[in-house]
Amino acid sequence: MKATVWGCRGSLPSPGPEKDKYGGNTSCVQIEHNDTCLVLDGGSGIQRLGAALGTNYKEVHILLTHLHIDHTMGLGFFLPLYNPNLEIHIWGPATTIESLTQRLRRYFSPPLFPVRLSELPSEPVIHEISNSEFTIGSLKINSSYVCHPGPTLAYRISDGQSDIAYMPDHEVSLGSSNFPNEPEWTSGFNIANGVDLLFHDSQYKTEEYASRVGWGHSSIGDSVNFARMCKVKNLQLFHHDPMHTDDSLDALIDEYKAENMTPFKMEMCAEGSVFIL
Ligand SMILES: [Zn+2]
Ligand SMILES: [Zn+2]
Repeated sequence: MKATVWGCRGSLPSPGPEKDKYGGNTSCVQIEHNDTCLVLDGGSGIQRLGAALGTNYKEVHILLTHLHIDHTMGLGFFLPLYNPNLEIHIWGPATTIESLTQRLRRYFSPPLFPVRLSELPSEPVIHEISNSEFTIGSLKINSSYVCHPGPTLAYRISDGQSDIAYMPDHEVSLGSSNFPNEPEWTSGFNIANGVDLLFHDSQYKTEEYASRVGWGHSSIGDSVNFARMCKVKNLQLFHHDPMHTDDSLDALIDEYKAENMTPFKMEMCAEGSVFIL
């Protein structure tokens, strides 16, 4: 399995010379295995992915964690959606209030966007999922609702040899009454337990999180505690705050590593990173 990071910024695209190392595009990770191509979230990073995709695949599956704008804003600029010869599937969380198609139509309609969902030449197939297990090509997918404002899924992807968990927006300390104890009662544990590679929300410094409880995101410390609980092999700290520059992200992880030992690899995720599992 191959994972390519096309965007790992949280909340708002924030390019600039002070963000060159970790990147300014919002959430988008591509997973490839044999003839299967998954795109995790449609943040602004999906635009470059679309341009790079070429004719490598006849079928592309976009898996949305949720409908917040930083995870959907790139969809209209994903060129494969305008290719009638491509088969495109969009998967995302079900709600009790409104269908996924209706929620996607809000984005794909004026005045927000000039092209309507029904006018896309690829005629994407929409799939609603919840706490689900399903197969796409050669990959097995598990989805589960996790703690974040509005219905939000996390994904676990397995090729039978390796497992990747993708949880860009997750306030894990509110996802349990006794965090970081009682793993089986913790939001997202079933998704991340024992994975080889975990992309996890770590938007805030510990001191920032204190005034942002309930906003839906985790501190780096909570993210590490969750990774330790799940015994992951590689933690990629994801969904960087748009205010955090390369220098501040470097200082944050250096400071954390100086004070804490972790039994797994841990890095600030950087746009452009490629992982081969
Ligand atoms: Zn987000
Ligand atoms: Zn969100």
